[in-house]
Amino acid sequence: MSRRVLVTGGAGFLGSHLCEALLERGDEVLCVDNFYTGRKENVAHLLEDPRFEVIRHDVTFPLYLECDAILNFACPASPIHYQRDPVQTTKTCVHGAINMLGLAKRTGATILQASTSEVYGDPDVHPQPEDYVGSTSFTGPRSCYDEGKRCAETLFHDYRRQHGLDTKIIRIFNTYGPRMQADDGRVISNFICQALRGRDITVYGDGSQTRSFCYVDDLVVGILAMLDQPSDVAGPINLGNPAETTIGETAELIAKMVGTKGGVTYHDLPKDDPKRRQPDITLARRTLGFEPKTPLEEGLARTIAYFRTAGC
Ligand code: NAD
Ligand code: UDP
Ligand code: UDP
Repeated sequence: MSRRVLVTGGAGFLGSHLCEALLERGDEVLCVDNFYTGRKENVAHLLEDPRFEVIRHDVTFPLYLECDAILNFACPASPIHYQRDPVQTTKTCVHGAINMLGLAKRTGATILQASTSEVYGDPDVHPQPEDYVGSTSFTGPRSCYDEGKRCAETLFHDYRRQHGLDTKIIRIFNTYGPRMQADDGRVISNFICQALRGRDITVYGDGSQTRSFCYVDDLVVGILAMLDQPSDVAGPINLGNPAETTIGETAELIAKMVGTKGGVTYHDLPKDDPKRRQPDITLARRTLGFEPKTPLEEGLARTIAYFRTAGC
């Protein structure tokens, strides 16, 4: 059955892939975005579809429209973007969540929150299961994002308990793919663009810190599976690819795949940079049948091809 789905942050990296996937399966899509980090080009190819609409709007302000489901993805996601205006980041996380929950309460829509592995902070439990409460700083440079997302989760739980909303929370681990921004400072886009430009690849710290990278198409399958769950499935639920790799290995792999003339240089590790991160996806496997399929090399090849065409 066709549903009208509101995607906040729909012109961003993940949001644009979601808009595309929802249209493909027959839903109507309202893409709401203030273009803080998103781009019209990300959704330009969808505009001719009469079931697709873009609305310029900042979710920190109230929004009145009718819809059946809300995917709340509005929020800058890369550290340099969310730290550029940390107060606005917290407002987007918290006021944005309140407004979208208010909208869900009025319309009876199912609402899914894009939470993040950052709620676990610099974890001392590895890999991170959903019941790990995390180790975050609430005063550091990453706090606007980490604590903003944690508060949004609190709001989702409270609207569910207090107002009986059909809420769902996913905790997304590092995801990459086409339509990432070349200059947003995230490691995969940075390394690919540096390699394509023949510049040195900048590894922060000694490169021994780990991340587990999920290809965007795999993540989208998991997100839609969660959206389609009955109302008793609320999460939080981890979504990501558990294949863990060090940042040093990732740099070497990208350098080899691009065939760059540049080398690798080492720089200071940013403050509060998590040392290890790997999702425990037992719950997603069991509840959603979620299984990421794309190996890192294959996903990187597609992402490198995108940046070769789109430019860095
Ligand atoms: P992105 O920066 O590409 O997308 C965010 C989108 O939100 C952009 O289009 C931006 O313009 C929009 N936006 C920001 N503030 C807004 C506001 N106040 N009102 C309306 N729109 C606003 O980032 P992304 O990687 O696509 O991330 C999307 C969501 O997924 C974010 O909520 C992020 O926290 C979450 N997430 C992403 C990852 C990842 O690895 N990509 C990991 C964990 C969580
Ligand atoms: N809200 C919105 N769209 C709606 C309904 C509510 O943006 O369709 C906003 C509204 O501005 C409010 C917030 O969501 O501040 C929370 O709504 P709720 O009903 O929980 O709170 P109340 O209106 O009682 O303060
Ligand atoms: N990183 C790096 N070089 C870069 C960009 C990032 O070594 O040019 C490191 C960063 O310090 C972190 C990891 O790569 O340890 C992932 O960084 P990203 O900003 O992509 O994601 P997050 O830290 O939010 O997981």
